[in-house]
Amino acid sequence: MMVCPECGATLPDGVTCETEFHQMLFWEGENPANWAVHHLTVLCYHLQHPHLYSSDGLAGGLQLLTTFVRDGISPAEVRRTSRDKVNSKNRNWKITARPDSKGAYAHPPTWTIRTVDVVVRGSDRYCDSVREWAQSVYDSIKDAGNSTATS
Ligand SMILES: [Zn+2]
Repeated sequence: MMVCPECGATLPDGVTCETEFHQMLFWEGENPANWAVHHLTVLCYHLQHPHLYSSDGLAGGLQLLTTFVRDGISPAEVRRTSRDKVNSKNRNWKITARPDSKGAYAHPPTWTIRTVDVVVRGSDRYCDSVREWAQSVYDSIKDAGNSTATS
C-alpha cells in the first residue's frame, strides 16, 4: 500500500491518484452518460491535488466548485454567463502551477472521499459517485475554514 502525499489516499501498489483519474476519464470516454460529470471530476481531482494549480488557479477552481455544488449552476450556464470574464480577465490566469506559484490551502482539508473511493464504486455508479465526491470536496474545504469563493 502507498499513501498519496498530497491528498492522503491509501492506494494499492502501482496505483496513484493520477492513474485513478485517468480511469475515470476512460469511463467518460467509454460511456457518454458519464461525460455529464466530467467538469466535477476534473475540478475535484485538481482541488485535492492543489499543487497542480497556481494560487490563482486554485482560487478560480474553488469559485467554480462553489458555483456548481452550492449554487447548482450547470457548466453550460457558467460558460454563458462568464463568457466576458473568461475572455478577458480569466484568460490571463495561469491555471497550472509554476515554480513561483503553486496552489495551497490556508487550512489543509481532511478529505472524506478521494479518487480511489470513486473508482472502487465502479463505472455503473460513476455519476452518483462523482456528485457525492464533489459535495464532499466542497464540504471538506469549507469545514477546514477555507473561503470557498473569491468574490
Ligand atoms: Zn491523491
